[in-house]
Amino acid sequence: MSTRRLAPILLYHKVGNPPRGARVPGQCVSPGLFAKHLSWLARAGYETVSLSRLRAWDWPPPEKPVVITFDDGYECLHRHALPALREHGFTATVFLVVEGIGGTNTWEVAAGDVEEPMLSVEQIREMQAAGIEFGSHTLTHPHLTEVSPERARREVAASRARLEDLLGRPCATFAYPYGDWNQEVREMVAEAGYAVACGTRRAAARPEDDALVLPRINIRRYNVLPRFRYKLWQAERRAR
Ligand SMILES: [Zn+2]
Repeated sequence: MSTRRLAPILLYHKVGNPPRGARVPGQCVSPGLFAKHLSWLARAGYETVSLSRLRAWDWPPPEKPVVITFDDGYECLHRHALPALREHGFTATVFLVVEGIGGTNTWEVAAGDVEEPMLSVEQIREMQAAGIEFGSHTLTHPHLTEVSPERARREVAASRARLEDLLGRPCATFAYPYGDWNQEVREMVAEAGYAVACGTRRAAARPEDDALVLPRINIRRYNVLPRFRYKLWQAERRAR
């Protein structure tokens, strides 16, 4: 049993500097700041666990567990996040938009954003071999509560099947695009066989939380170290 029974789940998107014209530059944490976040977590005694391991809370747990997650699966994770994670022996969970693999962020381009490359199959396999976990973030990144139930069900279930083929292992974790979910969508996630899913409520996760809508802490470009530490502190306080 963990003495704390509390784990902050951090949400990152991109590690890199924002391209010119980026609509949401706040999603790009610079490699230097990301390295500072990881160094601080290590110094503060945090140990990373993958999201699928967190769900049971009954393994010999670290004193201070933390989960690092990345949404969407941008290529910059291979270039900038993987080396930094490796340096600390940290793991992380990356939620992939399945139809974006080896391609670009078409759902963001459609909304007027800059085109950016996504992780390739080879990069995903290399990261998996280095201990990174992959989960589903649907096929095409829709608002699941706004598309038809048939489409939503396919986005949730078919993405899991395709990832299991690609990764050669079970895919137990899911993240709702835009943090957008309702009871019907949550039910689809349960039916598709996922064990853990992340929403975007800001708090640290506890064992008594609904495992299919776990809270997460959105980490942004402007979260220099004091702000980063404050966000963790605040999330842990909220969870108590
Ligand atoms: Zn996303």
